[in-house]
Amino acid sequence: MNILDLVRDNIKALKPYASARDEYQQSHGNMVFLDANENPFNNGLNRYPDPKQNLLKLELSKIKQVAPQNILLGNGSDEVLDLIMRTFCEPNKNKVITLPPTYGMYQVLANINALEVVEVPLTASFQPQVSKILKVNNAKVLFLCSPNNPTGNGLNLLDIERLLRAFQGIVVLDEAYIDFSEQESWLHRLEEFPNLIITQTFSKAFGLAGIRLGICYASEDIVSTLNKIKPPYNVNTLTQTAALKRLKNLTEIASEIEVIKSEKALLTSTLKTIQFISNVYPSQANFLLVKMDDAQMRYKQLIEKDIVVRNITTQFGCENCLRLTVGTPEENQNLLNTLKDLQ
Ligand code: PMP
Repeated sequence: MNILDLVRDNIKALKPYASARDEYQQSHGNMVFLDANENPFNNGLNRYPDPKQNLLKLELSKIKQVAPQNILLGNGSDEVLDLIMRTFCEPNKNKVITLPPTYGMYQVLANINALEVVEVPLTASFQPQVSKILKVNNAKVLFLCSPNNPTGNGLNLLDIERLLRAFQGIVVLDEAYIDFSEQESWLHRLEEFPNLIITQTFSKAFGLAGIRLGICYASEDIVSTLNKIKPPYNVNTLTQTAALKRLKNLTEIASEIEVIKSEKALLTSTLKTIQFISNVYPSQANFLLVKMDDAQMRYKQLIEKDIVVRNITTQFGCENCLRLTVGTPEENQNLLNTLKDLQ
């Protein structure tokens, strides 16, 4: 399979927009930039951002051991997922596969892009039905989410590998929660699978949901094709600066992850003692899927006590489940005390 054969014809033929900063990139102290119709008076943000985010990619490249040319950055991973659909899928013609219950944006983005969504539900233990997935004809993109939202579990590594080897299209592996997981990221196996796209984000373990920064790792061919269609300045200067600063603080990120993991363990064991809770599913993420007597009623009771969780009772396989994000130790204690007091 030549991956570039999967690209839409109009994207293959596309001549991308060349921004001023694309055309001339070098810079030294006393250069005069009169090419981008910017306001010349320096306020720290009067210039367009680097469209290729070179400094940030270099830093990420060192940390993740992936070459910069295998990295594409987006305005949140949601933008990256949208770019992937628009690169490979023809509206009103192609289809994608999702494995519910899973992250709802795959479906929404497919609807926006007029793509048919074939749903192959996860099993009762929230694992992929590999042979059923492989029986779907002519799907262009398969979305795997591991650890999966909202179930919290990691997908079986052997199932992921079988799908990567046998699926005749692009496999997007969404690793938004990988930093909380005991499973390893698939990043170190990127080169083995030309159809693999891994997405990660600064919104979860990296603690920067507010800056909107998503990461895509893939072959050079895929990254350069996605680069053709991304908006030229999709990652703004404030975002690039904040991300670079945060990457200098890896020890702080690591210690926050450790606190979240130990709080998750504490929440899990205490939630299991609450009489109306029937299951706390094992989680490789920073949230817990919790099954109870009446999720809608418990959701409302928590809101009345100023605690907001996610009611996912309508999602496939998640009847009477709430999804609880792990908070600070104080927030978690508040949640537990409140739940214990509910009638
Ligand atoms: N993937 C998954 C599985 C998610 O749960 C989320 C956010 N809830 C995202 C992607 C979106 O991440 P971002 O903030 O980078 O758009």
